[in-house]
Amino acid sequence: MWICNRCQTANKEGYTQCVECSAPRNARRFGAGRPVVAPSVQAASPERRMQQPEQAPQDAPPPPVSRRVVEPPVLPPRKPVGGFIRLVGILLAALLPIITILVAVLRYDVISPVIISLFFKPPAPEVLGYVAYGVMTFAAALLVMAPGLALVALSRLMGLARRR
Ligand SMILES: [Zn+2]
Repeated sequence: MWICNRCQTANKEGYTQCVECSAPRNARRFGAGRPVVAPSVQAASPERRMQQPEQAPQDAPPPPVSRRVVEPPVLPPRKPVGGFIRLVGILLAALLPIITILVAVLRYDVISPVIISLFFKPPAPEVLGYVAYGVMTFAAALLVMAPGLALVALSRLMGLARRR
């Protein structure tokens, strides 16, 4: 004799089903009549829940910073060489004309007869002599600046060549 789990009806031992509700003998109280309970739908749901948080990957942009750090140490050793040549060129371009003018002024009595004699014959008017001497002195000063300016230009060319 056994009691039905569904309706609590007492059944005889020979019966495999409940007389009252026809439920099987081993049926449970809820979901009776379907002992084979295999809900395949519930097995798939936990896997879907696990895949959702894997989305939204975050990519930070740090690489451009590392590239700029490498460049600065290359520049410092270049400047001293070009800077030295430029400094010498500026000094020459400034000092040589000054020396030339000083010599032309201080040694006027020695140099002026030679310069004036290049343009005029010995009995030359003094005004033209001074003008000729001044023009020649100015021309000489410009010519003496050439090597210094050449060094300055050279330093610039070296700087442009190294930047490329
Ligand atoms: Zn029953």
